[in-house]
Amino acid sequence: MPHAREMTAVYYDEFGKTPVLSRLPIPSIEPTSVLVQVKASGICRSDWHGWMGHDRDIQLPHVPGHEFAGIISAVGSEVKGWNIGQRVTTPFVQACGKCDYCLQQDHQVCEFQEQAGFSSWGSFAQYVEVKNAMVNLVELPNDMDFATAAVLGCRFGTAYRALRDQAKIRETDYLLVIGCGGVGLSSIMIAQALGVHVAAMDLNPEARKLAGKCGAAITLNSLDEKGKKEILAWSGKGVHACVDAIGVKDLLGECIGLLRRRGRYVQVGLLPDQMGVPSFSFERVVAHELEVIGSHGIQAWQYRNMLDFIRLHKLPIHKIITGTCTLHQSIGLLTTMPEVKTPGVKVILQK
Ligand SMILES: [Zn+2]
Ligand SMILES: [Zn+2]
Repeated sequence: MPHAREMTAVYYDEFGKTPVLSRLPIPSIEPTSVLVQVKASGICRSDWHGWMGHDRDIQLPHVPGHEFAGIISAVGSEVKGWNIGQRVTTPFVQACGKCDYCLQQDHQVCEFQEQAGFSSWGSFAQYVEVKNAMVNLVELPNDMDFATAAVLGCRFGTAYRALRDQAKIRETDYLLVIGCGGVGLSSIMIAQALGVHVAAMDLNPEARKLAGKCGAAITLNSLDEKGKKEILAWSGKGVHACVDAIGVKDLLGECIGLLRRRGRYVQVGLLPDQMGVPSFSFERVVAHELEVIGSHGIQAWQYRNMLDFIRLHKLPIHKIITGTCTLHQSIGLLTTMPEVKTPGVKVILQK
């Protein structure tokens, strides 16, 4: 089917300057790519970081958006097994499939990764290119809507892998989640399904309320002395794992102090150097054999397990989607993200 040559997209040509809704050329795709007509795209804190100039991969001018779902509208000449009209999504890391890390199934840290919305134009647009489609595409189950699928690509998928593969959390463990945005709320929901005891911290009372609805046993507004005492009393010897789901550099030391011996601290929220470099003592890390681990998205091949997990536990992912909007409305939500008081994930929907 022939394509129109132009699309509507959210576009900025300067970091920190209000983006505009523009008519832009539809990306011309590589032979190993597909073109996806975007139906839903999450608005993530990483999009805000990118717009602020915190991401070295972004070259101006730029179209943001990295967690999305839609319909294949064109297929590159070398792509086998995928067809126009299929409902698809992708993790936010689009891996090469060939480097040493990909060959070890660690596509989330691919050496030659592409990230639509960072290294190329993203999904705040009618169309987006998915590179190395045969490695990175995931077909949606018939009963999953586009908005839910979009949230899997960054927020939920990242939380799923951070908890299971990085925090190695197990039934009856105690977990502390810092930040109750999309990753935090997803972490709470996943942990609860696994039979893990969860405490959550967020400054925003509305976010704490939503955290409680997603399964947090206790919620805190601070890790001051009172908050720390509460966590220690609740967990006995401290928590088995802590996930920073938002990127708070000043709490790292406090979180390390709340881990029980052999506990694991997992950094998921971005901590760009421009926002200050965290510092903490390694004394306890050595003496108590603690682990400090990063976590970066999820591989496309893990979606099958993740989708089974969601179905098995009937996870109400819609609970963390607290608003939908148009491409035009997304501009205001992107630029005011740190000040927005409504918790949960906002998703751009397109016809
Ligand atoms: Zn690779
Ligand atoms: Zn994201």
